[in-house]
Amino acid sequence: MRYDTLIVGAGIAGVCTAYWLKEAGQKVLLIDKKGLLGGASGAAGAFLSPRLGRGGPLQRITNEAYRFALDFYAQKTPDAFFQKGLVRLPKNEEDAKKFADYEPFIDLPYQRALADDFAHIIPDVFAHGGFFFPHAAFVDPSRVAQRLLEGIRSAFNTTARPEYRGGMWHIGKFYAPNLVLATGADQLPIALPWLSIGGVWGERVDVRSRADIPVTLHQKLSVSANVEGLVRIGATHVRSDPRSEIERVNQLIVDAVGLVPALCDQQIVRIYAGHRASVADHIPVVGQAGDIGAFDPRRKPPRSLKPEDPAIAKIPGLYLINGFGGRGFVFGPLMGKILANLITRQIRPEAALSADRFLLRHARRR
Ligand SMILES: Cc1cc2nc3c(=O)[nH]c(=O)nc-3n(C[C@H](O)[C@H](O)[C@H](O)COP(=O)(O)OP(=O)(O)OC[C@H]3O[C@@H](n4cnc5c(N)ncnc54)[C@H](O)[C@@H]3O)c2cc1C
Repeated sequence: MRYDTLIVGAGIAGVCTAYWLKEAGQKVLLIDKKGLLGGASGAAGAFLSPRLGRGGPLQRITNEAYRFALDFYAQKTPDAFFQKGLVRLPKNEEDAKKFADYEPFIDLPYQRALADDFAHIIPDVFAHGGFFFPHAAFVDPSRVAQRLLEGIRSAFNTTARPEYRGGMWHIGKFYAPNLVLATGADQLPIALPWLSIGGVWGERVDVRSRADIPVTLHQKLSVSANVEGLVRIGATHVRSDPRSEIERVNQLIVDAVGLVPALCDQQIVRIYAGHRASVADHIPVVGQAGDIGAFDPRRKPPRSLKPEDPAIAKIPGLYLINGFGGRGFVFGPLMGKILANLITRQIRPEAALSADRFLLRHARRR
């Protein structure tokens, strides 16, 4: 069965790409070895929060994606969008110094957070100040995905092993000139030795509670606003943690009650876990895959050669969207649109997003 584009991975990256390609008039098939949101996207608290920092491309791109995502979900999936605002609190005095350094670089509406305005949080945590972002939000991942995929075909329980022949990408009986790999932290189904995607495991938990929590809080963990008796608490970042999952989730709940004492009536509804996919510089990878085989291994590419230079040969029809880290729901809508614009209108992504940055690094080190 012929399509314009096959997308492997039905997480938020694949879902948003499918949405924008369909909007551009393409016939798209979304393939996943599990099902819709079977990877990290099904585990996400799906908080939409801005990035604090001292400027630079990661902060600029994240906050551009954040602004875009707020408008996108509000318009396209209003019943899955909860705009409750977010209080960001420093963890300690040292963190508070960083917050002070970050303040000149905040390019979004915010206010200084004051204990008097947030009576549900224990006042002690305001000892080091904090920022309130009134437009921050969170979304319901499964409702978002269902809305965005209306009219889009899918093939779930299908492990993709794509093959390129006769100018088409084939996965079983499906074929198309374009193939998008939106495979998150899983091993890429096509070997690209120059691209290293790491993963950070994490857990989060939904609890039922009568606690009156009007805004989302983020200190060392996030506690969502209470919507219809449900509060999201997350998330852990497991690198080399010897504790069991139950111990980590217990700690999350203890920390959440430490922040909002009224959560002491909580009852666990569900525990979620997943692998966040990230790359070395934490900036998403969006674009066409370059062809490392086209470089002469005896000659290093010149420093003047930059990502997205037309001289860099590409693998025909092979595209990547990955590396969303802990902010997949922030990045998904804008990155999906950027990729769809490349596939349908040949508009190249900016160099900072391009997969070529890793291709060139690899070719120069060989
Ligand atoms: C505990 C936790 C909390 C988080 N909280 C937030 C948050 O609050 N806000 C936020 O924005 N982000 C959050 N994230 C991060 C967010 O979940 C990820 O950034 C996002 O889900 C990545 O989306 P993705 O589509 O790239 O990958 P995934 O959602 O992992 O999707 C990849 C899909 O590809 C499929 N796949 C892989 N290989 C193949 C193959 N060969 N054939 C077929 N299918 C294949 C997998 O089955 C999977 O469904 C959180 C993550 C975790 C784990």
